[in-house]
Amino acid sequence: MDATQIEPLRAALIARRDEVQGELDRMSLEMRALGADEDNEGGVGNHLADDGSNVMEQERILAVGGDLQDILNQTNEALGRMDDGSFGTCLRCGKPIGRERLEAFPYVRHCIECQTLLEREQALRSGR
Ligand SMILES: [Zn+2]
Repeated sequence: MDATQIEPLRAALIARRDEVQGELDRMSLEMRALGADEDNEGGVGNHLADDGSNVMEQERILAVGGDLQDILNQTNEALGRMDDGSFGTCLRCGKPIGRERLEAFPYVRHCIECQTLLEREQALRSGR
């Protein structure tokens, strides 16, 4: 990929990063608000009816937040690869990643073939 192809993707990645970062900031505020309730109640506050929903809400935020953090890391890595010139090259096999794939998912590290393999390996490892 040459610079004229990379630049729009870089802009898209930066926009995406800011968006994800904003979402994470919002979530950490939300988490703090939920956590602060617990702190204020101390050991005697567990009788409150909404404790259960608070925990569920925190778990939901943590799950979504983890996904967002992954995207943020991948986005930052992709921006780094744009700087060092390795952007658009599969980290596993070293072949170029398809341009359409990069335009759809600029933060991907692997070509579609390797991605499929890696996902299959991961499924095997996590499955029983
Ligand atoms: Zn590959």
